[in-house]
Amino acid sequence: CGIVGVTGVNNVLPYLLKGLEKLEYRGYDSAGVYVSSDKGGDYLVKEKGRVSALEAKAKKETLIGTAGIAHTRWATHGNVSVANAHPQMSADGRFYLVHNGVIENYLELKKQYLEGVHFESETDTEVAVQLVAKFAKDDNLSGIDAFRKMISLLDGNSAYGFLMMDRREPDVLLTAKKKSPLLIGVSDHGNAVTSDAAAMLDLTQDFIELVDGDVALVKPHEVEIFDESGQKVERKPFHLDIDP
Ligand code: GLU
Repeated sequence: CGIVGVTGVNNVLPYLLKGLEKLEYRGYDSAGVYVSSDKGGDYLVKEKGRVSALEAKAKKETLIGTAGIAHTRWATHGNVSVANAHPQMSADGRFYLVHNGVIENYLELKKQYLEGVHFESETDTEVAVQLVAKFAKDDNLSGIDAFRKMISLLDGNSAYGFLMMDRREPDVLLTAKKKSPLLIGVSDHGNAVTSDAAAMLDLTQDFIELVDGDVALVKPHEVEIFDESGQKVERKPFHLDIDP
């Protein structure tokens, strides 16, 4: 339902939690956050109910993160539970994914590619992140190429805003969208990804709107966007003249 992610700031958690609070008006049933540090270390925290409940849990973590992703979930596949909340993690612990929308053919994909893989949740989203891990490992693909391959297999009626992190590149956010809004927030003191600009106004007022089919790499000081055909593209940011 709601997505936020930030990279390149020192102590990312307050940005993520405040971002989720700004998205609360959309409604949700659970929330979660994955945070990593460019000096090593990471954590995943998820909770049912309010963002304040997630906050109470996440504040017990001592690691000061420099990148992270967070989500408020409105369940479509699988009931309301901590296991079904996002981020969803691959069984090898390498990839963390938050997702807005629905993957229509997730059961077919699970059957075709993921026989024998251990699943923690009932979500369509976990199928997507397990596919990324499988392609990275079996086909020896980079995180972004495995992410792209997973996206190429999604049924045309699927809708997604994806935001993913790869443990091997703890300061990089991978994102993609189709039929679900996603913006990249840019600044000279860190970059962000969000489904709603209002959630990231504390970091920046400059946003790039992604187009359906785009895949992007968001790093602390650099943003790279590729269109549906894989061609690198420049998309101009717009400036939002409103107070946070
Ligand atoms: N289909 C996903 C799920 O049920 C994402 C729902 C959402 O957009 O919040 O977990």
